[in-house]
Amino acid sequence: MEESFDYVIVGAGSAGCAVAGRLSEDPEASVLVLEAGGRDRSPNIKIPAAFSKQFKTKLDWDYSSGPEPHLDGREVYVPRGKSLGGSSSMNAMMYVRGRPLDYDGWREAGCPGWGYEDVLPYFRRMENNEPGASEVHGVGGPVNVADQRDPRPLTKRFLEAAQSTGIPANSDINSPEQDGVGMTPVSQRKGRRWSAADAYLRPAMKRSNVTVKPKAQVLEVVLEGGRATGVRWRDSRGRPHLSRAQREVVLCAGAIGSPQILMLSGIGPADELRSLGIEPRVESPGVGDNLQDHPFFLLCYECTEPESLADAEKPKALLEYVLRRRGPLTSNVGEGMAFIRSRPGLPAADIQLLFGPAYYHDNGFDVHEGHAFSLAAALPPPQPGAAAAALVRSRRQAGAGRQPPR
Ligand SMILES: Cc1cc2nc3c(=O)[nH]c(=O)nc-3n(C[C@H](O)[C@H](O)[C@H](O)COP(=O)(O)OP(=O)(O)OC[C@H]3O[C@@H](n4cnc5c(N)ncnc54)[C@H](O)[C@@H]3O)c2cc1C
Repeated sequence: MEESFDYVIVGAGSAGCAVAGRLSEDPEASVLVLEAGGRDRSPNIKIPAAFSKQFKTKLDWDYSSGPEPHLDGREVYVPRGKSLGGSSSMNAMMYVRGRPLDYDGWREAGCPGWGYEDVLPYFRRMENNEPGASEVHGVGGPVNVADQRDPRPLTKRFLEAAQSTGIPANSDINSPEQDGVGMTPVSQRKGRRWSAADAYLRPAMKRSNVTVKPKAQVLEVVLEGGRATGVRWRDSRGRPHLSRAQREVVLCAGAIGSPQILMLSGIGPADELRSLGIEPRVESPGVGDNLQDHPFFLLCYECTEPESLADAEKPKALLEYVLRRRGPLTSNVGEGMAFIRSRPGLPAADIQLLFGPAYYHDNGFDVHEGHAFSLAAALPPPQPGAAAAALVRSRRQAGAGRQPPR
């Protein structure tokens, strides 16, 4: 089965939904969105506190890192959303931008137009910041950003405890000055998750020029004369399809899915592709390499006060949520956070503390009877712009986009 569109977008996650929404504003452009996962109707997507119930279900790609040399060979579970909205339908809804230094690092690493002052207008344009507009925030945009409706009292205690150690209060963790402790802003609306599908895809689906196909797994990009002209995919019954792109194929299958599709299409490190029985078509050694994620180390504590999310599934809380969209089920779990510097002289915070009024050991799989809270230390990029610099370096070394000699 063969169809033709102007744009073929692979993956309906954060990026794919935004790209589909923006491209389809042109009524002359026909847009196809192919998503391997199904629709996003599950209550475990909509109810904020239920997000971890998606883990290792059909809503999750359920990846594993492979043996990690620096973790004594241990494999790390890597959840990734698999439904409309992608990981924005699964994530913890913390609406937290990078630090200005991160974006400036991108610009300095060779990406003009990506410095903080360059990206700020786009942040403002995409937001509907419920607390209001300011120099750094916008209103009227598709991405709804809210203060938490019913944070647990334990989170207030975390904020107070952090301040008693000298960490300053920060009332807007998304201001250019990120250091300090504050409540986490959330991508929610009226107590429900507000994913990229809610923000961009559903409004776009009302347009006649947009076609969205869930349960459509893309297998490869079709290359003709050195140009991507379409994609091959299979539907839920395993039937093969070819969708042609008159203008562009836009790969938005995520940090793991996009390089996988490229490599399946013969785009990547030639020797590795050959060893997997894939004929190399475009030599690009950086593909499938250099993945970085933020390390995240968690401590869980029992607590004597009944102030955590331990009662979130009790009938009272369910009723509160169903009737008023309030109560503990509106929690994104990571309710509070702090950006701190581990030593003087650093240009920006190098540690992000995340506070959750819940027992979150083993990604929520490990159950604890009674009240508890969790405190995680996460590392933002080890050096501002380090990831971008590594990427640009590897692209330069690889002569990215070059055709192989044969
Ligand atoms: C558990 C969890 C918690 C997180 N918490 C936060 C948070 O609180 N705040 C925050 O800012 N970020 C958070 N993140 C990260 C954030 O959600 C992601 O960085 C972001 O959603 C990635 O967007 P993306 O478009 O690159 O990929 P995704 O949103 O993952 O989208 C990729 C899409 O492509 C689809 N796809 C993949 N392969 C194929 C294929 N072959 N064919 C068709 N479709 C395919 C996938 O099913 C998916 O829908 C979290 C992520 C997870 C998993």
